[in-house]
Amino acid sequence: VVDQKNVWIGTSWKMNKGPSEAIAAARALESFQPPEGIRSFVIPSFTSLRDVCSVLEDSALLVGAQNMHWEDSGAWTGEVSAPMIAECGASIVEIGHSERRQHFGETDWTVNLKVQAALRHGLRPLICIGDTSDEFEFGVSQETLARQVKIALHGVSRKDLGQVMVAYEPVWAIGSAGRPAEASFVSGIHTRLRAVVRELAGDSGVRIPLLYGGSVSQANIRDYVALPDVDGVFVGRAAWEPADFMRLVESVS
Ligand code: PGA
Repeated sequence: VVDQKNVWIGTSWKMNKGPSEAIAAARALESFQPPEGIRSFVIPSFTSLRDVCSVLEDSALLVGAQNMHWEDSGAWTGEVSAPMIAECGASIVEIGHSERRQHFGETDWTVNLKVQAALRHGLRPLICIGDTSDEFEFGVSQETLARQVKIALHGVSRKDLGQVMVAYEPVWAIGSAGRPAEASFVSGIHTRLRAVVRELAGDSGVRIPLLYGGSVSQANIRDYVALPDVDGVFVGRAAWEPADFMRLVESVS
């Protein structure tokens, strides 16, 4: 599968693993060497970001943060900024995960502000987009997702587009109440998203990695990664255990 393209496989630990558990997990992953052509990353919570970054500093894994604010500093109690994340040593920042949109009022507009701030500070934004089950049922998934991507990337220069990653994560596919999307459905969505980002990138030759996420597991990971417009997967539950994460990454080559 990985012969023709770079494949990204990453996991967000979400609100799991306090500092000691996160450090132990990072140590378990420290010497892991993903097969040729696969790039992998882990996204711990803020309380262990700096520690996980230092354990994985010389490893093959990249580290990301789960969220950020769009301002660099100021009176924003409880928030964390892009320069803080960069100083911890992270290189990726997740933006607009559906759990943030659903429970913390994130909108396409705040996602756009965050994407621009991340890029200003040399972080790779991993922009999460997703259709709700209603949008899916009404057959407007493609329109919804195209709109989310266009707003998220509004005003981003063609040069900076080369730093961006997008994860398509159907809201109805995420978590234990979700069901994994059919590979054929994901294929149609990603082909449309590829066309949208190609239009934004023009003839710059930039290929934005388009990942799929939502109930990815050992049973279905290869089906997604084999799709021509899918450049990898973003995994939750099935990758929280380091041994499972490594097995997932190895199973794709
Ligand atoms: P899940 O989570 O793999 O546990 O469904 C995916 C995600 O939220 O990215």
